[in-house]
Amino acid sequence: MSPPEQALAQGQWVKLICGASNQDLAAIEDLAGLYSLAGVHCIDAAADAAVVGAVRRGMAWAAERGSSVPWLMVSLSDGPDPHFRKAWFDPERCPPACRRPCEQACPALAIGLAATGAAGVLADRCYGCGRCLPACPYGLIEERSQVLAAGSVPALLADIRPDAIELHCQAGRDGGFADRLGQLVASGVPLQRLAVSMGAEAGGAPALGEHLWQRFDRLREAGFRPLWQLDGRPMSGDLGRGAARVAVRLLSQVRSLAPPGPLQLAGGTNGHTLGLLEPDSGVAGVAFGGEARRRLQPWLQAAHGQGRRLLDCPALWPPALEHAQALVQPWLQRCGGRGC
Ligand code: SF4
Ligand code: SF4
Repeated sequence: MSPPEQALAQGQWVKLICGASNQDLAAIEDLAGLYSLAGVHCIDAAADAAVVGAVRRGMAWAAERGSSVPWLMVSLSDGPDPHFRKAWFDPERCPPACRRPCEQACPALAIGLAATGAAGVLADRCYGCGRCLPACPYGLIEERSQVLAAGSVPALLADIRPDAIELHCQAGRDGGFADRLGQLVASGVPLQRLAVSMGAEAGGAPALGEHLWQRFDRLREAGFRPLWQLDGRPMSGDLGRGAARVAVRLLSQVRSLAPPGPLQLAGGTNGHTLGLLEPDSGVAGVAFGGEARRRLQPWLQAAHGQGRRLLDCPALWPPALEHAQALVQPWLQRCGGRGC
């Protein structure tokens, strides 16, 4: 059994989420390097050749220092989805007196003269969270979809050859789900796992259980092994105990309703998550996005401010690694699954 499969079986799986539409290559490469060295089993990133290149460079840096190479997972969706969009506005239309509340709202420092040197949205940094959309008092900010066209998926996957795919799914899109599966099969790429990401927004836990079962049947027909990602509070960027509790509660409600396959938490996961789990929670692991980035942000900014990779700054990356390990290690050491 491969180390990632072993981690899923033992409840110790940890995935780093770089963002389904995040194209901040410098940060992605540094995060991939340091979290690989910290021991994550999988890195989930945008289905984009440049992004995948950055992830692989980060993984190679960590491998040179003795880490195992995590699975590369790329994200797709079965239709329009907030994870696959970017904000946009024309700064020429902004009234000069505007106090720029959009800047304050953005957690990715993707808007603003101070942060980026550009007055509009820095598209590479925007990951589509949507916080800026209602913040503009003039309604100038719009969202632009980043969903991949069907025809481009097989060739793209054949080019980047991921180990796993994450499909962000919504209720009522069985046709879109089946179409995406067909594109994955057409790519000819052997996948270790196909992660289905869904939240409870459509009808609560019982409905979520039904949706997962429908997708389980499709996956079985297509020959893919599932990984169920329970999206507690999607794209929340909320690092408090309340957000962590939402994801853990969803797990407890869905666990007995879900089809066979490992259950993994995401959406509002953070440093509180592990402490909120019951000893017999049955969870296979966790994915960290906003929390993983926040912990390394000061070092990322310090290195990038010097025009360097964090991975190339021997005075900076060791303390950053300690913070990454503090998030990951408790999961690697827990005893929560069949193999313990
Ligand atoms: S607030 Fe969210 S959607 Fe708006 S620019 Fe920032 S990352 Fe993009
Ligand atoms: S809040 Fe609206 S008007 Fe003000 S800077 Fe942002 S996009 Fe422009």
